[in-house]
Amino acid sequence: KERKLSDLDLLPDETVKKLEEKGIVTVEDFIYADPKYLSEVTGMSERDVEDIQEELRNIDVEFETLEKLERKRRRITTGSSALDEILGGGVPCGELTEFAGPFGSGKSQIVFQLCVNVQLPEEEGGLESKAIFIDTEGTVSPGRIKGMAEALGLDPGEALRNVFVTQVRSVEEQMRAAEEAHKLCEREDIGLVVIDSLTAHFRAEYSKLGDVSERQARLMKHVDQLRNLAMDHDVAVVFTNQVHVDIEAATKGKGRRYEPVGGTIVAHQATHRIMLRRAKGEVRIARIIDSPYLPQREAAFRITEEGIRD
Ligand code: ADP
Repeated sequence: KERKLSDLDLLPDETVKKLEEKGIVTVEDFIYADPKYLSEVTGMSERDVEDIQEELRNIDVEFETLEKLERKRRRITTGSSALDEILGGGVPCGELTEFAGPFGSGKSQIVFQLCVNVQLPEEEGGLESKAIFIDTEGTVSPGRIKGMAEALGLDPGEALRNVFVTQVRSVEEQMRAAEEAHKLCEREDIGLVVIDSLTAHFRAEYSKLGDVSERQARLMKHVDQLRNLAMDHDVAVVFTNQVHVDIEAATKGKGRRYEPVGGTIVAHQATHRIMLRRAKGEVRIARIIDSPYLPQREAAFRITEEGIRD
């Protein structure tokens, strides 16, 4: 990635040589060096040095096509090609993805599966990296994750060692865990950060009507932490969310509708929102309900003994 001064036609060879002798080898070295010093080394005027630095800075800005950007975005397969399809190829790194739905709709199963799939080689839809799991309700299941790993031919013990888990008992602990996750991302090759569930503690701790604005303020801060985590480390951040009955829709006679907890705060910051619901037997339906670039499509998938499948 580093471009050397000798690769460019901008400077005469002997000037490049003089610079290299002083340890100024790359374009970056040149751009950030003191013009006065560069002038002494090369014999050029300071003015000329500054012009060249300016020119090199301009070369440094590179445009690329959206198509290339799209291909560069790393994704983790969910295990269901139909679900991957509506997500644009899997759960994306660098962004926040929310799975919301009523009890038993498959939220936890999806995030367990992602913890396994992130470990797969890239040809199989993974990132060959590890996961962080912030567990707020004590739902994380080593047995289930082992089973899912085995079903994919991964070593189950290894699969468990590649998932870092912390159990948090309050909003305070949850926010600290998100901070710690930053540090862990620097030390380990992390591709996925899971929060299951995002809102349970917020809901429990700020349950009185008067607490709503404080709850929303802290929730916003927390989601902000998560977005930074996704962008700074290019990891997929995936959280689950509960739903409540949309009272407004019900009173307007629109029937029983569910709405993710956290209202507009989470809605505006979660990049992609997917609503899950039960269908017949092991079948579940996922629907994109909010996303800056994904169309609002539906996909059916199954929760089987092996894990998430078509
Ligand atoms: P949520 O987190 O949305 O409350 P879960 O992700 O825990 O829901 O999904 C629970 C559902 O997953 C159960 O209803 C069951 O149908 C299915 N499930 C869980 N474990 C297994 C398993 N080992 N084999 C098959 N299905 C399972």
